[in-house]
Amino acid sequence: MRVHVDPDLCIGCGICEGDAPDVFSLASSSIAEVIMDPVGSEFEADARMAAEDCPESAISIENGEESDTPTPSGADSADDAEESIINHDLERNFEMKATVDQDLCIGCGICEGIVPEVFSLQNEPYAEVLLDPIPEEFQDATREAAEECTEVAITIEE
Ligand code: SF4
Ligand code: SF4
Repeated sequence: MRVHVDPDLCIGCGICEGDAPDVFSLASSSIAEVIMDPVGSEFEADARMAAEDCPESAISIENGEESDTPTPSGADSADDAEESIINHDLERNFEMKATVDQDLCIGCGICEGIVPEVFSLQNEPYAEVLLDPIPEEFQDATREAAEECTEVAITIEE
């Protein structure tokens, strides 16, 4: 698998580096740089998550559904098994999606205060959802944010 960052779209937010620090880096540039090409099979899940989380859709993936990464001889089945476990975990954990109704949101920041990993008002006058789907570790806090939102602007799908 290979990944590419469109420098015309990237805003340098760093989300991709947070999701997949072995694949993306902003250490030497204001836009994300791909530091692993091709992406090793054990990092493909993180790279896919970064592409999904990128708010600018700046990350493209080649052969996204299948790994064409060469694996050391004799390690193929072990790597495949490991990737299958990782993907299974992702599928099991990534079952929640949150959306903010921009017509209702008043930009109060309550949601961001409860779970800044999921909601941000950094770039918008209203809350923006940073993670889609919502990882399991943030799901309880995301539900709490939806309950606390005074404008009932947050919808959760599970
Ligand atoms: S998440 Fe997207 S916009 Fe943000 S730094 Fe990475 S590539 Fe750029
Ligand atoms: S708590 Fe509700 S109204 Fe306030 S910023 Fe978040 S989504 Fe908008």
